[in-house]
Amino acid sequence: AEALSSKFPAAKGKAPSKTVAIIGGGLAGLSAAKYLSDAGHRPLVLEARDVLGGKVSAWQDKDGDWIETGLHIFFGAYPNMMSLFKELNIEERLQWKVHKMIFAMQEFPGEFTTYDFIPGIPAPFNFGLAILLNQKMLSLPEKIQCLPALLPMLINGQDFIEQQDEKSVLEFMRQYNMPERINTEVFISMAKALDFIDPDKLSMAVVLTAMNRFLNEDDGLQMAFLDGNQPDRLCKPMVDHIEKRGGEVRTKSPVKKIVTNPDGSIKHLEMRDGSTVQADEYVSAMPVDVLKRMEPKEWQKMPFFRQMDELEGIPVINLHLWFDRKLKGVDHLCFSRSPLLSVYADMSITCKEYYDPDRSMLELVFAPCSPLAGGNTNWMTKTDDEIIDATMKELERLFPYEIAADGSKAKLRKFAVVRTPRSVYAAIPGRNKFRPQQRTPIPNFTLAGDWTSQKFLGSMEGALLSGKLAAEVIVDKALGVEPAKSLGKKSVEKEYPDAEK
Ligand code: FAD
Repeated sequence: AEALSSKFPAAKGKAPSKTVAIIGGGLAGLSAAKYLSDAGHRPLVLEARDVLGGKVSAWQDKDGDWIETGLHIFFGAYPNMMSLFKELNIEERLQWKVHKMIFAMQEFPGEFTTYDFIPGIPAPFNFGLAILLNQKMLSLPEKIQCLPALLPMLINGQDFIEQQDEKSVLEFMRQYNMPERINTEVFISMAKALDFIDPDKLSMAVVLTAMNRFLNEDDGLQMAFLDGNQPDRLCKPMVDHIEKRGGEVRTKSPVKKIVTNPDGSIKHLEMRDGSTVQADEYVSAMPVDVLKRMEPKEWQKMPFFRQMDELEGIPVINLHLWFDRKLKGVDHLCFSRSPLLSVYADMSITCKEYYDPDRSMLELVFAPCSPLAGGNTNWMTKTDDEIIDATMKELERLFPYEIAADGSKAKLRKFAVVRTPRSVYAAIPGRNKFRPQQRTPIPNFTLAGDWTSQKFLGSMEGALLSGKLAAEVIVDKALGVEPAKSLGKKSVEKEYPDAEK
């Protein structure tokens, strides 16, 4: 990650400076702009909303409390993110938690069990030991029964993992005779946390990719919370960096149309206010569902772009619950292992800006929340009250002494429900091969976004890396060098044989 970062300042002054219009001010768009500005180019980020960050965006309610699109966790195994924090000199903003994972005990309401990573023990032994030492979720024979499934990954690495993309987690488990209890004890909560879907829908490559990252790095699974809201604490320093180097970031600037020349290259962008934006190069850092709608007619028959038909965002809901008292919480992320909730945290403990010594604020991810993701209910169409009622019933199990669904114990002072109808791409089996590389067949158009091809999943790290790879494509093009064999490059699969023509 650091080597790729250092390529950009090294390219500065070696090629004419290009203007680059970037559609979308999420982490992918801001990352592309940051690295392009490092290389001496002039990015212009066009963000539709009045707030930056996309899926990490946040805003304040009338009381000044922050409402976030999602509860976000940073992992030690996010090399590009760690490098970015260093480059921006904001490393102290990551609040690292003790290296462990905390799971609610399904059979014992209010009880939790942990997987502890012992300091000083290198990966993958710390991971193995953490699993061995936890006696509460899986028995020793069950753990031993999982080994044959994990060995091929340890021996063959990423190649083996990619081959498993055609199988769901459940199909993979059955192929390797893993005990069914692994699913209920571990995989349901992992799948919900990784992609907001159930394991019968999730591609096994997603679980193995995450495990492989965590197995290979000593602190891979160590988690950090940002010390405050993402627009101020992460996006703002990126914007300052970009603007100091001659770039520009505009909010409230929705792009309406990509206008093309007869040869399919981009002529200009038509903005919703009627103005136009012209640049030497263009980057889309929009979610796949939005790009599909905005794709120019001339591109629609091109196999490269038709891959996108196979990808779509998954719905998810993020909840904030403000209570009238302090709950017995921990300074960490918890896996709820309950049917409707995924992970949650008491932000009044875990995050400096939201710290409150007297009252708790739980932030929770509600998933799966549509039949596409699992379950039978489309929670996206339910009212806020219905969602909160269902959540309170599950919280009753997690906090049996402090929360009662009828409100007779801790009082819910207020709540916020944030629905994201299309979040990260649905990583159902067989999708990975359709994730397009950043370099496109259109000469002045490059792609970024967590859903494009890169070795991380739909995540903040994936978004950052995709932006960096998009910047690399443009920098190499300006230098007139052959495209680097970077991580995001891949040939288009046999389903789309003409794509690279
Ligand atoms: P986006 O953030 O979607 O950015 C796209 C941007 O394009 C948006 O700002 C949008 O407004 C803009 N745009 C769209 N159309 C236009 C237009 N016409 N003109 C101009 N701009 C436009 N990741 C983790 O690593 N760890 C986590 O713990 C985690 N938890 C999550 C929890 C939730 C509830 C959610 C929803 C996501 C979570 N993620 C997590 C995933 C992570 O947030 C995303 O992968 C990442 O932020 C995506 O960044 P992006 O830039 O690719 O896309």
